[in-house]
Amino acid sequence: MECKNAYLQGIMDKVIAKNPAEPEFHQAVKEVLQSFEPVIEKHPEYVEAGIIDRIVEPERVIMFRVPWVDDNGKVQVNRGFRVQFNSAIGPYKGGLRFHPSVNLGVIKFLGFEQIFKNSLTGLPMGGGKGGSDFDPKGKSDGEVMRFCQSFMTELFRHIGPDTDVPAGDMGVGAREIGYMYGQYKRLRNEFTGTLTGKGLTYGGSLVRKEATGYGCCYFTQEMLNAKGDSFEGKTVVISGSGNVAIYAAEKAQQLGAKVVALSDSNGYIYDKEGIKLDTVKKIKEVERKRIKEYVNYHQNAEYHEGSSGIWTIPCDIALPCATQNELDGEAAKTLVKNGCIAVAEGANMPSTPEAIEVFLNNGVLFGPAKAANAGGVAVSGLEMSQNSLRYSWSFEEVDEKLKNIMKNIYKNTSEAAKEYGHENNFVVGANIAGFLKVAETMLAHGVAY
Ligand code: GLU
Repeated sequence: MECKNAYLQGIMDKVIAKNPAEPEFHQAVKEVLQSFEPVIEKHPEYVEAGIIDRIVEPERVIMFRVPWVDDNGKVQVNRGFRVQFNSAIGPYKGGLRFHPSVNLGVIKFLGFEQIFKNSLTGLPMGGGKGGSDFDPKGKSDGEVMRFCQSFMTELFRHIGPDTDVPAGDMGVGAREIGYMYGQYKRLRNEFTGTLTGKGLTYGGSLVRKEATGYGCCYFTQEMLNAKGDSFEGKTVVISGSGNVAIYAAEKAQQLGAKVVALSDSNGYIYDKEGIKLDTVKKIKEVERKRIKEYVNYHQNAEYHEGSSGIWTIPCDIALPCATQNELDGEAAKTLVKNGCIAVAEGANMPSTPEAIEVFLNNGVLFGPAKAANAGGVAVSGLEMSQNSLRYSWSFEEVDEKLKNIMKNIYKNTSEAAKEYGHENNFVVGANIAGFLKVAETMLAHGVAY
């Protein structure tokens, strides 16, 4: 029993009973339901219409076999998923994750969060997520291509520019999107904006690659500005070394901060003189190698085995940009003890509930994922607009729109937190601000029966 309200706790109990062995999904739903007490007091009509009972149940779950042939001619089988969670305010929208840890519960947690995140962007996008337990690490280009083609051979019948628009997530970047888009186009004989994160030669948007990381810094900047502070002269620790981490580091540096650490699932690098991003981009984007290679180029930098040690490095700002539950209560206490003033989540649900509690109780500015990493899907939304217009905007135009979207997300989140009695709690603020638009729409659409 952890929601004080009996009605909300009843929903939580049902979610756990109906979805056993899905701890990440339970965690994501619980965090949202715990924010809703002041909402149902103010809006009894949502209870009457069963809005919350409905929002925790995906509209549709697709689970499928993905067979492919490896370089040795051996047949391999993975499992594919697409969870079409909520289409109240727009076509389902959300990334595809290829990682061995993927299972139905992980995709459901991600799809559930996506509903609120997408709503917060202000753009017309519903929530969805998909992926596979396929591990692109160590696979040849040919193997990745054959896997992507097989994955799309089933997925294509469930998606479309006005139905469901997938994109990238962990393990899915420009290469994978290219192979999937190619297969989609072959099967449909149509050139539409059905995937986002596409290459720039076939309908991709400028700034999409940078968007999640840049957006995370723009959101952090808003939190700092509200306190009369900025990135200037700050020491920043960023976990991860994928797309989100690299471009969060780039923007933090542009805003005058020193980024001293990055990581991958094996360990972390610490460069007290400041991380050289050209080296990181060469290692990660060109060579697809592990982050420990960095110390071969910069002898003064250190490499440490074990990624969670990254949070022991003293910093002013921490940006967890790796994966779910990577930052626990102990790590949060260490960050606070070392003087950390702001944390913004570039990854999805990287802080455990215990960690979030530590940050909120100690006055650390905390930007939850739904708000702080919404820049990625926001620029995906802008990619959809450009595809519909059959036009493309300049880097500066997209970046400006992204900045405005992140400013609005901060404004709506902090205002909702205040209005509903939780000033400065952006977890509650983001959950409520994201929910209200979806709830109003579900109410307007009525119940189909
Ligand atoms: N996977 C990203 C996210 O977690 C982006 C999704 C998208 O662009 O559709 O929001």
